[in-house]
This record gives sequence, C-alpha cells and structure tokens, in this order.
Amino acid sequence: MQGFAESNNVKKVFFGENSLKKFGKIDILQKTQKRIFILDKFFKNKKNYIKTKIIKKSDLVIYINSDIEPTDILIDNLILKIKKKSFSNSKLVVAFGGGSTLDVGKAISNLLKNKGKASDYQGWDLVKKPGVFKIGIPTLSGTGAESSRTCVLTNYKTGKKLGMNSDFSVYDIIIMDPFLTKTVNKNQYFYSGMDSFIHSFESINGNYKNNISDKYANISKNICEKIFLSKNMKSNQNRSNLMIASYFGGLAIGMSMVGLVHPFSAALSVIFGTKHCISNCIVMRGMKKFYPKEYNLFWKMVAKQKIKIPKLNLKLDSNILNNTSKNLIKSTVVHYKPLTNALGKNFRRILTNKKIIEIFNKF
Ligand code: NAD
Ligand code: ZN
Repeated sequence: MQGFAESNNVKKVFFGENSLKKFGKIDILQKTQKRIFILDKFFKNKKNYIKTKIIKKSDLVIYINSDIEPTDILIDNLILKIKKKSFSNSKLVVAFGGGSTLDVGKAISNLLKNKGKASDYQGWDLVKKPGVFKIGIPTLSGTGAESSRTCVLTNYKTGKKLGMNSDFSVYDIIIMDPFLTKTVNKNQYFYSGMDSFIHSFESINGNYKNNISDKYANISKNICEKIFLSKNMKSNQNRSNLMIASYFGGLAIGMSMVGLVHPFSAALSVIFGTKHCISNCIVMRGMKKFYPKEYNLFWKMVAKQKIKIPKLNLKLDSNILNNTSKNLIKSTVVHYKPLTNALGKNFRRILTNKKIIEIFNKF
C-alpha cells in the first residue's frame, strides 16, 4: 500500500435535514452582488426550494438540462452567455442539483478566472488560478461531485470524457440537506447511489490506494451496502446516510483513483450518450472476473431494490473491428490512469482489443 496522498478539501460543510435554511444566512451570499445561480432544470418552477427566499432579480439564473451530461462546449457557451449578461466579474457561483449541475458550477467558476476554453483544462492540474468562490448544494447523492476535485466534461471532438482535475475544482462551501433528495425517482436514486459504491470499491482495489483513501472508501462502501440491502432505500435515515456515503466516496477518489468500471462507462457515455451512473451499472455486467465480490453484491442490491439495468446487446465482432468497436476501444484506453490503477501500467496486456470488445459484448 502506497503511503502518500494529497488533496484539498471543501472549506465548510453544512450537514443535516433543513440545513438549507442556513444557506440564506451565509455571509458571502448576503454581501455579494451579481451572483450566478446554476440550478438543475427540475427546480425550475419549484418555488418552495431555493428560489423564492434567496434568488433576487439582480442574480443571473441558469438552468441545466441534466438529461444530457455537461460538455466542454456547453461550458464555453455558458461563459459567453455570462459575458453577454455582464456577469463575468461575478464573485459568487452557486450550483444546486445533482452531479451534472455541480460539475457545471465548478467549471464555470474555474473559467471565469482562467482564460481560454473549457477543453484547455481537461486533464490533471491544468487550472492555473483559483476560480470564483463557489457553493455547491447537492440534490442527488452518489457522484461525490460535492467533495471531489474534478468536474467531468464530455468532449466529443477528442472522444474524451475527462474532468478538470484540480485543487481549484473543490467547492468552498457545500450544503448537504437530505430533505433535497426526497423527490428523486427510485431508479435514479439507485443508479447515482451505486456511483458511490463503485467509486469506493475501485479505490479499495486499486494500486493507488492508501491508508486514508481506504478509510474513506470503506465507510462509503459499508453505508451503501446497508442502504441498498435494506427494505426502504429512500427512508429519511437512508437518504441522510447516502449523502454521507457520497461525500466520503468523493474524498476517497480525491485521494486515490477510480478503476476499471469508469473507463468503460465513459466510453459508453461518449459513444452512445448513456449517462454516467446508469452506464456504470451496465458496465457491472462485465466486471465479474475483475471485482468478483463486488459484482455479486451489486447484483444482490439490484435484485433487492427491483431495479432494471438496461441490456445493450451490442454483438460486436471481437476479431474484425468495425468503427463502433474502434471508437469504443479508443474511448476506453484513453483513461490510462484509472486503468493503470486497476491493472498496472501494462494494462494493455490484459485489456487487448479482443478482450475489450468481449467485455463490451457482456453489456
Ligand atoms: P444528474 O445531475 O445528471 O441528474 C440526474 C437526474 O436527476 C436529472 O434528470 C435531474 O433533473 C434529476 N434530479 C436531480 N436532483 C433531483 C431531485 N432532488 N429531485 C428530482 N430529480 C432530481 O445526476 P447525477 O447522477 O448526480 O450526476 C451525474 C453526473 O455527475 C455525470 O455528468 C457525471 O459525469 C458526473 N460525475 C461527477 C463526478 C465528480 O467527481 N465531479 C463524479 C462522478 C460523476
Ligand atoms: Zn463515477
């Protein structure tokens, strides 16, 4: 086990049922003019959430269509919009939503202080300066975007689904109020919750693991197992616990790395547009050999909660590669860091083209 890990953390965390009430009282929120609010589209006409009490006419409100995962182009367009509305000197970004919205919040904050395009910063430690002060309010648990040091963007030009991995991609303040996840539908709640479970076991089973990431990951994984093997995964207690699991899962990944599930999942997102958390669940069909214990646990949880995981039936020829196969392979192996974490630096000896296609055929 390697001993060294470093990461910066969220500066202030509010946690607990109704902690959103404290939000309006936060100093920087009260003192700042020209605030940018980035909200998931689900909250558009839901007045009893954040809108009536906190958002003022002088704020810029942007709604995110989270049915599609954020892209580098979306961020560039939003920055243009922010400039047009004369908000590029804004000192505060607030994001309110699931992983997609939280990631948009981080990317906007970074780009308001760093010149160029979003794609310039996709990679590791490329962001030069701290972004605008940012507050994240998760309304869906699992991705750990609230505590992680990345904001994931799909780039269709390069075929890469890659984050701005940077200390500057960490929220300054987060507000974790389990009340907010009450309205999430059952399937989405499961898919996103599983992201936490998957982050945790990828971290625990990886070469980059260390004592601290292991502790975070084990807490997160144990909480997930308890929730998703219980009768009512969405009880008040379970929703509160899942918020904590998500937070710890994000910290675990910040201190280590994801593994084999994420590169395959990213390829599905880039090539077929399937969303992150459901893609992860689909990829679990091919993970028996690599993560046998977790594979069994995953399918036990799926059965317990009566969740439907889509079947892709790709039927690709693993001997003669067509364009789809070539693109899937390219979009998987581009994630050499997680693959090295999972299988070592010679991962291509195990993941030959033929083997990769055989795995995709299990989906
Ligand atoms: P999401 O943000 O994409 O939202 C999924 C759906 O849930 C949307 O339809 C949204 O409207 C709905 N929703 C959100 N909150 C709701 C609520 N309270 N009630 C009802 N509906 C609600 O989902 P997600 O799974 O949280 O995020 C996925 C994204 O997170 C992907 O883009 C993925 O790449 C990214 N991600 C980021 C990190 C990171 O560390 N930054 C890690 C993993 C994944
Ligand atoms: Zn993930």
